[in-house]
Amino acid sequence: MTGTAETGGTVTNWARTISYTPRQIHRPRTVDALAALVARSERVRVLGSGHSFNRIADPGPDGVLLSTAALPREIDVDTAARTVRVSGWARYAELARTVHAHGLALPNMASLPHISVAGSLATGTHGSGVENAPLASAVREVEMIVASGDSGTTGRDDRRFDGTVTSLGALGVVTALTLDLEPAFEVEQRVYTELPLEGLDFDAVAAAGYSVSLFTDWREPGFRQVWVKRRTDRPAVDFPWAAPAQVPLHPVPGMPARNCTGQLGVPGPWHERLPHFRAEFTPSSGEEIQSEYLLPRSAAMDALYAIDGVRETVAGVLQTCEVRTVAADTQWLSPAHGRDSVALHFTWVRDEAAVLPVVRRLEEVLDPFDPRPHWGKVFRIPSAVLRGRYPRFHDFASLARQVDASGTFANAFLRDLLGLPDR
Ligand SMILES: Cc1cc2nc3c(=O)[nH]c(=O)nc-3n(C[C@H](O)[C@H](O)[C@H](O)COP(=O)(O)OP(=O)(O)OC[C@H]3O[C@@H](n4cnc5c(N)ncnc54)[C@H](O)[C@@H]3O)c2cc1C
Repeated sequence: MTGTAETGGTVTNWARTISYTPRQIHRPRTVDALAALVARSERVRVLGSGHSFNRIADPGPDGVLLSTAALPREIDVDTAARTVRVSGWARYAELARTVHAHGLALPNMASLPHISVAGSLATGTHGSGVENAPLASAVREVEMIVASGDSGTTGRDDRRFDGTVTSLGALGVVTALTLDLEPAFEVEQRVYTELPLEGLDFDAVAAAGYSVSLFTDWREPGFRQVWVKRRTDRPAVDFPWAAPAQVPLHPVPGMPARNCTGQLGVPGPWHERLPHFRAEFTPSSGEEIQSEYLLPRSAAMDALYAIDGVRETVAGVLQTCEVRTVAADTQWLSPAHGRDSVALHFTWVRDEAAVLPVVRRLEEVLDPFDPRPHWGKVFRIPSAVLRGRYPRFHDFASLARQVDASGTFANAFLRDLLGLPDR
């Protein structure tokens, strides 16, 4: 049983900014069917929840797209070991609910809980917090189907492990992951408004909570909102720099706050406060394009002033800009690899023709800070430049060649990145 297949069909990403028109689309219903499809496909890519904004998941017109939508999802919590084994295609929302029901917690979450676990980890997805590394840092073990259709498991004791989690889908289909957990904790979230850029002590603001996000529309040189998520089991930290909001707010001005997680300092479980958006609210598609760049955290203020220098250009196509911090990790292709980072995120209007010139301009002004783009968002930095920004890039490229010698998972995005010849 291979589930449904569509020949000549089209699938789009969540934001409907990317269309995939592969030779075939399959929706396998079992892991065995998934493995059989991989084994007999020459060119294949797997689609998670489709929340990426570029062609990273696109198998191309001659390839096969494997949708994970119909596969059974398993989430097994081991309370004694404080770990969870989860299907790659499960969403963070359902993972978090199950883990919480066992009195345990993930250390951090992204802004949206609807994204798939393996798809998020493949692109280096992160939340915020000066002590919080990307979500991949919780992974202990990865189970994967490789091009032959065979399965294998890789753990932290494997010297290639740091190439295996944030691996852009280049090695195979991740069927399950085992993640570290910690005891459940509560978080209270407050939003502060109108924080000026002038005189900003970025390090102090970023450290004022377990997870801190600053939002600006760049219409003024400052931040409209600062979201501070504090763990109630840690000492309270003052926030003297801006006034607390008196009503719940959405990070995009004018959007309804009812879709957002609880604010006004009301404590709640970690998974109902760490994401900005509620799991019960199902965003079917977004009128947006996203870009994001990770830079050394020590460059945060210089980078913010550099963006301020092109503020009007950026503001013209921007819905909101979110500034977060991400602790260094060890995954070879993680945008936070080896450096404590500031993450500069941009939610643009959904107008590619208007947005791309601004993305290029932004990349010019950020270039002195060695920005590494989020792998799942829109960027235009040439691959030759990116290769030089990852000290372990060549280790990753040789791992990809070794594990996927036939190039089964190498789509146009990866060929360009890895410098492989076109087919
Ligand atoms: C509204 C919104 C909010 C977001 N918030 C954040 C945020 O807070 N922080 C952040 O860092 N990012 C954020 N993102 C980006 C998002 O986390 C990434 O795009 C992520 O890759 C989405 O996961 P996905 O399953 O939708 O991936 P997809 O777009 O489906 O796929 C991404 C890549 O993963 C691969 N892949 C998917 N499943 C598997 C699998 N089982 N095995 C192997 N490879 C696989 C695909 O082939 C592709 O290469 C956000 C995106 C949106 C739309």
